[in-house]
Amino acid sequence: MPFTTLKIKYDKCTKCTSLCLSRTQVVFGSGNPKAEVVFIGEAPGATEDKKGIPFCGMSGKILQELLAAIGLTREDIFITNTILCHPQDNRNPSKEEVENCRERLNQLIEIMQPKVMVTIGNFATERILNQKGITSLRGKIITTKINGKEIKVVPVIHPASYLYSGRNPIMFENMKKDFQTIATVIKETKFQKSLSDF
Ligand code: URA
Repeated sequence: MPFTTLKIKYDKCTKCTSLCLSRTQVVFGSGNPKAEVVFIGEAPGATEDKKGIPFCGMSGKILQELLAAIGLTREDIFITNTILCHPQDNRNPSKEEVENCRERLNQLIEIMQPKVMVTIGNFATERILNQKGITSLRGKIITTKINGKEIKVVPVIHPASYLYSGRNPIMFENMKKDFQTIATVIKETKFQKSLSDF
C-alpha cells in the first residue's frame, strides 16, 4: 500500500470513541516519508491537535534542539506517535487505544521499512519493544524484528518528562548522550548499507 493511501485510510478513523470526541484531527505524522529513521512519540498534545503536526509544541522544540545537536532536521526523519489522536487533558493512552492503533503503525513500518527507530518515552518503547522502564532502557541499542525485518531501536526520554522535571540539567545531559547514540547507530547503519552495495 502506498504511503498516501495509508494516510487517507486513517484520516477519518473512528476506532476509538473517546479520541474521536477529544481530537480536532488525526495527526498522522510529519517529515520525510522516505526516511530510514522513524521517531515514535506517545500521542499528539493540544498544539499538535490544532496544527496537525506531531511534536510542534514545547516538547517539539526540545526534540528539534536534540536533533540539531546531531546534525539532523525534521525533514531527515519521519515522526509519528503511538496513537494518532489527542487524548482529552493529555491523559495517557489506554491499552485499547494503543491496540486500535497497532495495525496502523505496523503498516507504516511495513511501507517505510526504517532501519532505525527512536521510541520517545514509555508508551512508544513498550509498544515497539514490549518492555517497560524507560529509565533503564534509554540510550540502549536494541535490535528487534518488526514484520519479520530487523530494526535497531533506541529508546529515549520523552521531552515532556524533562519539562515536567523543571528542566533538570542532568536529565538533559543524558538526553543529549542518547542522541549521540542515535547518531552513531545511523552512521553504522549507513556504513553497513554501503558495504552491502559491493
Ligand atoms: N508528545 C508526544 O508524545 N507526541 C507529540 O506529538 C507531542 C507531544
